Order: sequence, then structure tokens, then C-alpha cells
Amino acid sequence: MWIAEDSIELFGIENWGNGYFSINDKGNLIILPDKNPSLIIDSMELIEEIESSKDLEFPVLFRFPQIFENRITEINDAFHCAMEEFRYNGQYRPIFPMKVNQRKEVIEYILKYGAKYNIGLEVGTKAELLAALSLGPPKEALVICNGYKDEDYLRLALSINNVNNIIIVVDLFEEIFDILRYSRQMGVTPRIGMRMKLFSRGSGRWVESGGESAKFGLSTSEALELMKLLGENGLIESLKMIHFHIGSQITDIRMIKNAMNEAARIYAKVRKIAKVEYLNVGGGLSVDYNGSNTSTPSSANYTLQEYANDVVYTIQKICEEEDVQHPIIVSESGRAIAAYHSMLIFKIIGKKNAKDLFLRIPSQDDPIQIEDLCCAFREMNIENYKEHYHDALQYRDELYDSFNLGNIGLEERAKGETLFWMVCKKAASFAKQDGDESEEFQELKKLVSQKYIGNFSLFQSVPDMWGVGQIFPTMPLHRLKEMPCEHGTIVDLTCDSDGEIKRYTGDSEGREQLDMHPLIDGEDYYVGIFLLGAYQDTLGDFHNLLGCAHEVHIMAEGSDWYICQKVEGDTCRKLLDFFNYDTKDYIWEIMDRCVERKQFIDKKELDQVEAQLNRTLNGYTYFITKTKTQGAAKRIGGSI
Ligand SMILES: *Cc1c(COP(=O)(O)O)cnc(C)c1O
Repeated sequence: MWIAEDSIELFGIENWGNGYFSINDKGNLIILPDKNPSLIIDSMELIEEIESSKDLEFPVLFRFPQIFENRITEINDAFHCAMEEFRYNGQYRPIFPMKVNQRKEVIEYILKYGAKYNIGLEVGTKAELLAALSLGPPKEALVICNGYKDEDYLRLALSINNVNNIIIVVDLFEEIFDILRYSRQMGVTPRIGMRMKLFSRGSGRWVESGGESAKFGLSTSEALELMKLLGENGLIESLKMIHFHIGSQITDIRMIKNAMNEAARIYAKVRKIAKVEYLNVGGGLSVDYNGSNTSTPSSANYTLQEYANDVVYTIQKICEEEDVQHPIIVSESGRAIAAYHSMLIFKIIGKKNAKDLFLRIPSQDDPIQIEDLCCAFREMNIENYKEHYHDALQYRDELYDSFNLGNIGLEERAKGETLFWMVCKKAASFAKQDGDESEEFQELKKLVSQKYIGNFSLFQSVPDMWGVGQIFPTMPLHRLKEMPCEHGTIVDLTCDSDGEIKRYTGDSEGREQLDMHPLIDGEDYYVGIFLLGAYQDTLGDFHNLLGCAHEVHIMAEGSDWYICQKVEGDTCRKLLDFFNYDTKDYIWEIMDRCVERKQFIDKKELDQVEAQLNRTLNGYTYFITKTKTQGAAKRIGGSI
């Protein structure tokens, strides 16, 4: 018998879920926003609620604001715990870097739940600074300005210097001249940070962000020159922060220790020249997406507590050695704060590769290869399957050759294709029994595996899966007390062959296939992609003009829950507008063209065109599986 625990193990939920996900005794995936069974959300109850309210279609992105609260608290607690253990004489301040997720609602949740820890924001562009300011962070909360800074960026930051706790980080040496000039002109005393280029590099996918050739940061001589300049201008007190960032998703704890050592040493030396208050250790705290607990790119070989311990211990040790005051430690762990809070839910709308659906009965006049294929199928067994499979490959090639030469027709081609697929499927099943792991049979397995069509866009919702081959946990959300006896891969709605989930959780490399349940006619099958909260929301693109998905934000209250916010996704109209198609007069232009081209078009025909244009323009960009009566085909303007 298959029980929920078997699914938990099969899909590796406990390895990647970090305590936020599990399966209940109904076989449904559940969410535990504070890792505690006193707060539980049953994903299928939620899905039913959305289906029955009929105002939103799938795909839908779920956000769980309480997961932010838990993440921020855990990170904060980890640092406090380490500070206590190592008798650290300083404080800790968490920062959320805006580039990880700029959505307004997300930043609002982070500011709300992070307020008790004095959470601040880090911005990298003018627009991010404007966005941060619009949400009115508390006066004490740090707002750290990074990135390339032009006059507007610097003047904006300086102008609000006195009402916010702004720190302008010098990422490029030349910026200091502008900062000095504008602050003199504006009569403000700037608070300055200095981003250091470390010799230590990160590890994993974003290793280029660190090291000597990194894009940002000052060399040692630039740092000395900067301090000299500040001193000459009577502004040495303005230097408040030493900053570094060796890259995101640092998978190997040794890299963190090395960088921390170097940075703490730099802090200590600088501290003897200027009274810097903060040591900002940047981001990089990893998320174990595939649950393998290794230093492979989608994972991490350390825990949050180990990270905090290493940061605090190293800084404290070096400060003692150098006999300088312990700095306020600032960290900018964006990924670790945001990744877990959201998941995408979509339905499977079909299956490809059902090539043996229309078996045609072979006849006397068929070419010899068809008979050979029949033979191969009939006589195949575990002893001889390889041989028959190789033969079948040849028969198939011969058949296509004859078709291309015009010797056989469509009928024969169809028979040959179907038989070939039947041979492949049979061979694949023998290979599995036989434990054949050869490359050839891996290929065959892929050839005969199912492709499930998911109603979502990988490019819009999971861009890092496409861009950098990152693994995101993907699994069905229900029927998890049933043994999943099918397997295959999931393809998305785009017409792009890259729109396919190619790796699934299970082992450190990722499995090539997902275990699935057989689809049942007339019943929806829901799949979730997890851990989408970091970077995916704004990196996503509009491939094939598929837009943002609807969003539902859910709060748990005991074993109950409620929807606290709905954010509608994009309509086709919004996408067209975004790409400069003016949709204001769209309908009238098309209708005018109808009238022009067909002089005696009747009113009924025109009405149909108008209604359908309206409906499609104002509808969701994704595949709509149910027809609604309300809200559809509302006419705009008068009739002709
Ligand atoms: C991107 C970035 C971060 C966030 O890094 P994570 O690995 O997501 O925590 C932090 N600080 C700076 C300066 C960054 O550019």
C-alpha cells in the first residue's frame, strides 16, 4: 500500500521543503507557514475555493506572507544565537535586497514582518530607490544604495538623507567625486559605505560576482585613496559601512569562511582609520532547491545556523585579535528570505506522445518493413529486446526513405510509425526490468516517456529554470496516497522546445522524469512548482505573449485559512499595450476593416466579431479550461 509518507520521500519534500510543506492524510499537499502544525493550509481546499469562486483561472501563484515572517525571524534568531554563543558585542541588522523581488506586496510584507527586527532595504537603481521610498520604510531602517549612480540617483539619495537612514555605497571609485560635490552643493552630510573587492570568490553559479575581476567594488588602493579624500574634506566620520557581496547562492561554506576572514580583517584595519559602524556581509546565503545538501549549484552544504555562526565567529575573532570594536553586522540575504514564500499552481491540460492511439491493421500489400516491425513487436522478450529494438530503428529509417522516394503512401507511413512506437515502448519496459542503464536506453526511455502539457509559461514563471538550468521542486498536489505509476516530463504552453521542465528533485543532479498519476477523464490534475519567491517574479519574460499569472495571498489561522489578497494577472490587452499595440481603438479598427472588406456583412456576423474580440482581449493570456457565463463578452461602445 502506498501512503503519504511514501510520496513525501519520493518527491523529497523534507529535503527541500525546509519544514514549510508536507502531505496530509487526505493525500493533499499542505503548507505550514510557520513550520508548526498549529497553522496548516490544505492546498486542495484552496484550489477548490478558487475553482468555485469562478473569478480566477489557473495558473495561479500562491503567496504565503507568514512564511516571510518565519524566514526573517529564523535568520534573525540564528544571528542572535551565534552572537550569544560567541559573546559578540554588537547587533545584527537584516536587509532585504530589492532586486530579489520588487513586487510591491512582497516588499510591504517584508517591511511589516521585519519591522520588529529593524529590517532595511538595499536598492541597486533609481527605480528601486523610488519604489523603496514609496513604501515609507521606518526612519531607523537602513536604506542602502548600491549600483551605478548618476546625478539623479545621487541627488535623490542625498535629498532624503535626513529623513531616512540612507547609506550611499561607493561601488566605483569615481562616484566619490560626485558624492562630495553634490553633498556640498546641497548642504548635507552624506553617510557613505565602501564596497570592497575581495580576493576570495564565491562558488556555484554566480561566482563571477566576487573575486578580483568583479564588476563592483574598490581595490585596496582605491579604498585608501577614498579615506584620504574624505579626511581632506573633513568627512571621515561619514564613512559608516564596509560592504562586500561575493555572489548569490554560495553553495560551499568554505567560500563564506574565506570571504568573512578577509572582510573582517579589512574592517579591522579600516576601523583604525575611520569609525565605521557597520560591516555588511552582503547576500549569498543559499537555498537548497533540490534538497541534496551538497555544494552542487542548486543546493548548499551548510545550514542557516552554520552560516550565522561562521559570520559572527570570524568577525568576533578578528576584532579581538586586532583589538577593535565589534561592528553592527548587516546581512542582505534576499534569496533565503524570499524563496520559500510562493508557489505556482497549474493544471495539466493534456498529454503528448500517445502515438499508439490509432493502430491500423496491417494488410497483405504492406511493405516488408511493416511486417518486420510486427514481428519485432511480437517476438520481443527480455533476452532479445536490444536486438529487436536495433532492427526496428533500421526498419523505420527504411520506411521513411521509401516514403520520401514516393514508393509508399500516408497509410503505410502511419502504420509504420505506430508500430515503431509500440516496439520502443515494449523495449523500454524490458530495459527497465533488466536494469539497463546504458546511454542508449536512457535515450529510449526519454523517447517513450510522456510529455504532460502544463498550463503555464516556464519563461514567465520560472525563468531561472530556463536561463541557468536551476532546479525548482515540482510535484503533483493531490492523490499523494496513490502510487504514481506513470512518469514523464512537463512541457509548458509556449511554442519553444526549451519550455520544458528537464530536472526534478530527487538526487543532487536532479531526476529527468517526474512521477505522475494516470490522468482521469473529467478530473483536473494540479501540479505545483515551489520556491519561486526569489528572483523569478521580475526576471520572468513575456515569451509568446504569455503574461503574469493571477496571484492569491493566503494567511493561515489555526487549521483554517483565508485569502487576504488577490492580484489579477495580465490580460491579452495588457500584453498588447505593453508591446506598443494600441488597444484603445483596436476593436473599431478591426470592425472597420470587416466592413470595408465585405460590403454586405450582416449585423449578426459583426456582433460575433465584436464579442469575440472583446472577450479575448480582456481575457487571461493562458489556456482557459472552463467557459464562464458571467463577465464575458461585455460590449464596449454602441452597436453599429
Ligand atoms: C543580489 C544581491 C544580494 C542578494 O543576494 P542573495 O544571494 O539573494 O541573498 C545582496 N546584496 C547585494 C549587493 C546584491 O547585489
